[in-house]
Amino acid sequence: MPLSEDHRAVQDTVRAYVQDKISPNAARWDREHHFPAAELKGLAALGCYGVAVPNEWDGAGLDYLALAVILEEIAAGDGGTSTIVSVNNCPVCSILMAWGSAAQKEQWLMPLARGDLLGAFCLTEPHAGSQADAVTTSAVKRGDEYLLNGVKQFVTSGKNANVAIVMARTAAKDSDKSAGKRGISAFIVPTDAPGYQVARLEHKLGQHSSDTAQIRFDNCRIPQANLLADEGMGLKIALSGLEGGRIGIAAQSIGMARAAFDAALAYSKERVAFAKPIFEHQAVQFRLAEMATQIEAARQLLHHAARLKDAGQPCLKEAAMAKLFASEMAERVCSAALQTFGGYGYVSDFPVERIVRDVRVCQIYEGTSDVQKILIGRALA
Ligand SMILES: Cc1cc2nc3c(=O)[nH]c(=O)nc-3n(C[C@H](O)[C@H](O)[C@H](O)COP(=O)(O)OP(=O)(O)OC[C@H]3O[C@@H](n4cnc5c(N)ncnc54)[C@H](O)[C@@H]3O)c2cc1C
Repeated sequence: MPLSEDHRAVQDTVRAYVQDKISPNAARWDREHHFPAAELKGLAALGCYGVAVPNEWDGAGLDYLALAVILEEIAAGDGGTSTIVSVNNCPVCSILMAWGSAAQKEQWLMPLARGDLLGAFCLTEPHAGSQADAVTTSAVKRGDEYLLNGVKQFVTSGKNANVAIVMARTAAKDSDKSAGKRGISAFIVPTDAPGYQVARLEHKLGQHSSDTAQIRFDNCRIPQANLLADEGMGLKIALSGLEGGRIGIAAQSIGMARAAFDAALAYSKERVAFAKPIFEHQAVQFRLAEMATQIEAARQLLHHAARLKDAGQPCLKEAAMAKLFASEMAERVCSAALQTFGGYGYVSDFPVERIVRDVRVCQIYEGTSDVQKILIGRALA
């Protein structure tokens, strides 16, 4: 189904901004590990920080299809930037929208959706990744405060964010048989709270414009008012945010694959071997035809999942399928794009070398490909 005029207008606006301000800088940001604060403000001004947040909460008042369109465009310019924006939208804003009280929405969601603040999401721990209910970070109630202690791993924007949604255990894991899942609660934690510490910054394969931090909570005191919903709801809250998050990662995968494909297609029409542009060698043209088909197939899966979500229908399976297919497709397509460049694909003169590195993590974060298969498998049972 073609995009509506409104969605196309959003696409055109974000594409123009990305082509002007992001794509020309992506290689330098990668080299210098530069966090693109100014360009993120520009994206926020276009409504990219709270795309599906209603206008009354200072969001753009659009939908998940618009979010998919926007994240594809940003990722086509720079993968790291798209990850920062993706996390701010989902799970951060989507969780506050679904679970925050009116006061919490006013204090945190509105500035996050406007882009006055940047959000992070702290679920993963050094020993709890795919198994989210294994988190051990603790939140102990002391009067009208909670005291957080523990370590969170791989936190996107952990250094640059102003506020984080943090999952922590309010009941000991082994306090009774069911406390594993029900003992986790969700907190809104300002990153300038005493005891929020950036313990280390990860050295990543790609996405160097996005910081990924290990966060240590050392007697971090959080007012009771920052508890989201009720104690024990944390895992449900975290998982609810990941559905939209998977739509975001699928969109990022498609954006990066598209950028690699566009570069390879243009190159194939310029590069001459055996007296003709390599595009005219059927093996090269077939490879490009296959890449274009794969990208379009992933986009259709993604838009289907986003439309279901916008219609208020269950889409856990469809979002998982879109994320699984798009992220695995993107690795294949980016690798094929590199191959099209020959030796020049392997060096940093052309963008494909960076995109190949940037895209790989899409098969890992917001649930690995194996985890997506578990979710899809469960839906088939
Ligand atoms: C750049 C980056 C940014 C990230 N950003 C965030 C963030 O902002 N917030 C956050 O909370 N987390 C974030 N993550 C963490 C990410 O979500 C986890 O890395 C991911 O969920 C996998 O967890 P793990 O690394 O502990 O791997 P593990 O869970 O240890 O998995 C290791 C391997 O075992 C497989 N495996 C595990 N269990 C099963 C099973 N039951 N069946 C089959 N295979 C299985 C996995 O698929 C994987 O291949 C980020 C990670 C990266 C790399």
